[in-house]
Amino acid sequence: EAVIHWFKMDLRTTDNRALWEASQKAQEAGVPLICMYIVSPQDFEAHLTSPPRVDFMIRTLHKLKQDLAALNIPLYVETVAKRKEIPERILEFMEEWGASHLYANIEYEVDELRREASMVKLCADRGAAMVLFHDTCVVPPGALHSGAGKQYAVYSPWYRAWVAHVHANQELLSLFEPPAKNSAAAREKVAALFDCEIPDVPENKQLSEKDAKRFRATWPAGEREAMDRLEKFCDEKIGEYGKKRNFPAEAATSSISVHLAAGTLSARTAVRTARDRNKTKKLDAGVEGIQGWISEVAWRDFYKHVLVHWPYICMNKPFKPEYANIEWSYNSAHFEAWCQGRTGFPIVDAAMRQIQSIGWMHNRCRMIVASFLCKDLLLDWRMGEKFFMEHLIDGDFASNNGGWGFSASVGVDPQPYFRIFNPLLQSEKFDPDGEYIRKWIPELRGVKGKAIHDPYNRGAAAEAKKAEYPKPIVDHRESRDRALKAYKEGIGRD
Ligand code: FAD
Repeated sequence: EAVIHWFKMDLRTTDNRALWEASQKAQEAGVPLICMYIVSPQDFEAHLTSPPRVDFMIRTLHKLKQDLAALNIPLYVETVAKRKEIPERILEFMEEWGASHLYANIEYEVDELRREASMVKLCADRGAAMVLFHDTCVVPPGALHSGAGKQYAVYSPWYRAWVAHVHANQELLSLFEPPAKNSAAAREKVAALFDCEIPDVPENKQLSEKDAKRFRATWPAGEREAMDRLEKFCDEKIGEYGKKRNFPAEAATSSISVHLAAGTLSARTAVRTARDRNKTKKLDAGVEGIQGWISEVAWRDFYKHVLVHWPYICMNKPFKPEYANIEWSYNSAHFEAWCQGRTGFPIVDAAMRQIQSIGWMHNRCRMIVASFLCKDLLLDWRMGEKFFMEHLIDGDFASNNGGWGFSASVGVDPQPYFRIFNPLLQSEKFDPDGEYIRKWIPELRGVKGKAIHDPYNRGAAAEAKKAEYPKPIVDHRESRDRALKAYKEGIGRD
């Protein structure tokens, strides 16, 4: 007597495929649509979900509940302490509410896929159906193959195939409307569920009051906010994206990653909205900024496709197995300095303070600090990957793992390990006036000119010392040689 949509990382009413399909089914059958969400503290723990991210999701649920209530649809939210009990609990709901159909969008991480596969069977055993949809990527994983019929491991040819596939299947960018309104009679049947309260953030993920205030001001939640951000970016900035996207002092990127990660925005809507600002329906033609931006959103699809094809990357293993034997330094003082933004390399420290402060870091800086951790400090990339997940508000397993794999040269990228970022050159090139550094390292604000990139070696040692800013913890040339040796030996080892 009901159809259920199970929300996960798809916390929106508009352009949500499984929700729309569930609504169609409920309308056809003349039964109410019920939505539900399970808060799982153990999943947050297992996935290293950051406290600001959990807070963002709980805030989103409040908005979602209101939006659904306006459509006479209840959002039932419950905390389930043990993750292994979630499938059984959902089956209990189905029985209690008389639901024959459970709809959901697929999540591709290993644990989630396993859980979903087992739930399909559990439902079938009880005469019900779990109906799953591809939704989070524009092009579903598995749809693209190289000429030899294999999954691409290199982005550029994959991207050409992605574009061609979307051009040939324009419906991949279609919009799924919000669910239809439950009739008054249907609402009446599920009236009790509207009283459900949304739980607080679980104990293990709570923010201090001060942090909560800052994160909430920086990252307002909900799908309307997501759409406003996207539209504003497309109206004001997308044209210049190609020219400015690498400069962290410019607010030149969309900052919608938090919404794509929580599902308050769909990748389809992101690409379609950008495309509709172009003069052409082609994704690889017209305004350069638009093409460039769409190709960045495609990176998100790429890393999810990689994850589905090579699931062992979910298990702490490098994509390239021969890189598993590198001897990392595990120097805890170095790791601590990196985490705290006290390495003595201003561009690295500014970026690490940005992530600590707002749970987000500019893409160029993510690459700089990741390269610094793996190559200059020779620390295990998995320590950095974990730290990012624990702090990012846009933490996404596939993109994060892909980014770390790229920077540590252990991932799908064909770039050889001996191409090593020089943090000082990166700083001079991408933050030429030191504006980003001065923003995030207040104690260096008084340092003038180019000395900002390396105060101890460029004539501002006294000022830096007075400000208690640390000296560089490594010498880049020496650490570069050390990294080259360690990588070479590691790869050569059986
Ligand atoms: P924009 O430049 O406006 O790009 C639009 C969207 O495209 C982004 O929101 C994102 O969804 C996608 N995108 C852009 N660049 C990439 C990329 N390199 N890989 C995958 N998707 C991309 N992104 C995450 O969403 N979550 C993560 O946990 C994450 N971890 C990263 C770790 C490392 C070491 C690196 C190098 C990159 C990581 N990225 C991650 C990718 C990228 O840095 C962010 O997506 C981007 O900075 C988000 O800002 P934006 O929304 O303003 O991006």
